[in-house]
Amino acid sequence: MIVNLNGKLTPSEKAVVSVFDHGLLYGDGVFEGIRAYNGRVFRLPEHIKRLYDSAKALMISIPLAPQAMSRELLRTLAANRQRDAYIRLVVTRGPGDLGLGPENCSAPTWFIITDAIKLYPERFYQEGLSIATVSTRRNANEALSPKIKSLNYLNNIMAKVEAQQRGCPEAILLTQDGYVAECTGDNLFILQNGRLLTPPTSLGCLDGITRQAVLELARKLKLPAAEEVFTRYDVFTAEESFLTGTAAEVVPVVRVDGRPVGSGKPGPVTQRLRKAFQALARSQGTPIPKR
Ligand code: PMP
Repeated sequence: MIVNLNGKLTPSEKAVVSVFDHGLLYGDGVFEGIRAYNGRVFRLPEHIKRLYDSAKALMISIPLAPQAMSRELLRTLAANRQRDAYIRLVVTRGPGDLGLGPENCSAPTWFIITDAIKLYPERFYQEGLSIATVSTRRNANEALSPKIKSLNYLNNIMAKVEAQQRGCPEAILLTQDGYVAECTGDNLFILQNGRLLTPPTSLGCLDGITRQAVLELARKLKLPAAEEVFTRYDVFTAEESFLTGTAAEVVPVVRVDGRPVGSGKPGPVTQRLRKAFQALARSQGTPIPKR
């Protein structure tokens, strides 16, 4: 596999970064997880914009323009002759000294890995997920905005570990005030009185690209949808629930904290949106050039 390291197409075994890189020492950096379907990259401009916005919030100055970064990503896919891929784009503060301050970091490190996509097991989609609310709260906006897709995922990892210890593959993270924020690597939707609801990003969750696509699809399919604040109670009593994310796409949730959601089976609105999303993801995107 070829990795793009700071603009150089490098065999993966030679793609190494410094032990002084602040991405490693402090989680000081940003990233994106992106997918290519059938020779096209889904919502590339949106992912690139989110990356640059995250970097801006952290005052990391990415040393190439967004369009140039997009070209580098496409070039890496072409070099690996990949048409379907899970792409990891990372920008770190770069190598510095052992001090926390970024002032001694020379220049950001960036790299692009275009890996094979590892899909969730099919039974997750057929049977739906059983998930759990955890005691780890989502990072407060005032501490580290969850809108920043930073390399510091410890908040999410602690929540994931808690869920796994309870036999669940995903966790619901609440805000400090007890509102539903999101899951560790996915956004959450519920269907309540026939309306599709997902928490507003101002509450403290990532502005998911899949979440946006599903909100657009809902509008197209004439399903009432809104960004609204809700609690665990609303998830327990919802007609349906599902998660959205680049890797998961749209995955049904059928049990939360031991309570069946709706019928306890993947619901019809979830299935409709899942199909619509699959069709959308496979029908649009930035073409990968031939080598
Ligand atoms: N929330 C978190 C915390 C995430 O890390 C992700 C994606 N990895 C998502 C939501 C889903 O975002 P997207 O649809 O852009 O993949």
